[in-house]
Amino acid sequence: MTRNAVTLDDIVAQLKERQAADLPVHGGRTLAYVYDSGLSDVDDLGRAAVAAYAGSNGLDPTAFPSLLQMENEVVGMAADLLDAPPTAVGTVTSGGTESVLLAVQSARDGHPEITRPKMIIPSTAHAAFHKAAHYFGVEAVSIPVGDDYRADVDATIAAIDTDTVLVVASAPSYAHGVIDPVAELAAAAAAAGVRCHVDACIGGWVLPFAPRLGRETTPWTFAVDGVTSISVDLHKYGYAPKGTSILLHRDSALRRSQFFASAEWPGYTMLNATMQSTKSGGPLAGAWAVTRAIGEDGYQRLAAEVFAAVDAIVAGVAAIPALSVVAQPDSTLIALATDDSCDPFTICDEMADAGWFVQPQMAFAGRRATIHLSVSAATLNNVAEFVTALTAAVERAVAAGPVRVDPGVVAFIEALDPTALSDADFDGLLAAAGLLGTSDDGGLALPTRMAEVNALLDVAAPAMREALLVAFLDRLSRPVR
Ligand SMILES: *Cc1c(COP(=O)(O)O)cnc(C)c1O
Repeated sequence: MTRNAVTLDDIVAQLKERQAADLPVHGGRTLAYVYDSGLSDVDDLGRAAVAAYAGSNGLDPTAFPSLLQMENEVVGMAADLLDAPPTAVGTVTSGGTESVLLAVQSARDGHPEITRPKMIIPSTAHAAFHKAAHYFGVEAVSIPVGDDYRADVDATIAAIDTDTVLVVASAPSYAHGVIDPVAELAAAAAAAGVRCHVDACIGGWVLPFAPRLGRETTPWTFAVDGVTSISVDLHKYGYAPKGTSILLHRDSALRRSQFFASAEWPGYTMLNATMQSTKSGGPLAGAWAVTRAIGEDGYQRLAAEVFAAVDAIVAGVAAIPALSVVAQPDSTLIALATDDSCDPFTICDEMADAGWFVQPQMAFAGRRATIHLSVSAATLNNVAEFVTALTAAVERAVAAGPVRVDPGVVAFIEALDPTALSDADFDGLLAAAGLLGTSDDGGLALPTRMAEVNALLDVAAPAMREALLVAFLDRLSRPVR
């Protein structure tokens, strides 16, 4: 293939055309992955700031002092929102996962004498903690949550031992939208001399406004004694362009082990606060611009909108017989469960057909599959339409009946050991599962309706689910030659 230069106009046209196949990031109809303030002028500003700083390098704050200044200002706003003491410090990272990775890494390296470090996490903690465990050799001791989907304090206390470097709480958990008993967990950690990280990646920029709007929440900020670090994503409810989160520590001594320096080579002394070294200044500039433009007053208005949308959805769901909320939401996330008359996956497909993206969540730890909603401020504008669409989607799902996976297929999947499967086995499985077909031109074809695929993944054990999806990603990610 020749790849000679294409005109700029053609490229812009191609970008537009390709992007049209993606989920919309505006309009409040995509209830996962994207967060829409509905403020189009602020969005445009954020994009302009990203573009203006796309080539700036956050590697060296002395070379790009404007980036350092923006970082310190954004971290300062976060510190104020999260009731941080004057000693608090923070770092802007590329996203929630990087903030979580660094919280775990800095906790581990804060105790180099502990050779088999552990962290105690509620079973509802974000998968980023399992990634951190995998990357950094920190054992994740996962404690089953209670019937209310909140962390089990007594079981956490019982699990803390001399190898424990971190106790984790969520504010709120992604899957169920409830806040863990942070005060009790943090007190237990402090009593044992262990750090306590609150993962407020998703709630951290919206929950602070809840009490100001008369909605009481379980205390979870630095106002809680024993909380040593908090992660909060700007690219979620900060409504900033993708690529920014913040990791805050209660004091700079706690952050020291997060920093990395190396003079063990002949080039510049590497000095990094994050996993990335060279990093675009774009996301930080975008986040700085958006947070300044919205301001605390603006965020409070957006929080009022998003909570109003959540209340309207919860009320709407109460009128749908086959559907229920898994837990009364503490924040802006809603998990929905079905009764036996239908299944969540069919509802997700029906919603997609109606132009709404809602996210399936697989069965886990004996609890059935659910539907996840991350509600945005912009969803309020058409929340009645959402409830109508959901009601109709459930009606169609009930009429279709729950997707059934052939019992023979279930038995077959259950008997497989993912570690013993060959590439050819995976090719066969992916085709059988409907995850990958062959298109007319011989390329890969993605499924359009996902219910059957999801139902099959749902019956697979987590290890099998992971293996199948890794094989799937491997097949998707192939160079275009
Ligand atoms: C989104 C999220 C993360 C991970 O954030 P990314 O920005 O997707 O890397 C971690 N924890 C919670 C609770 C989240 O909602």
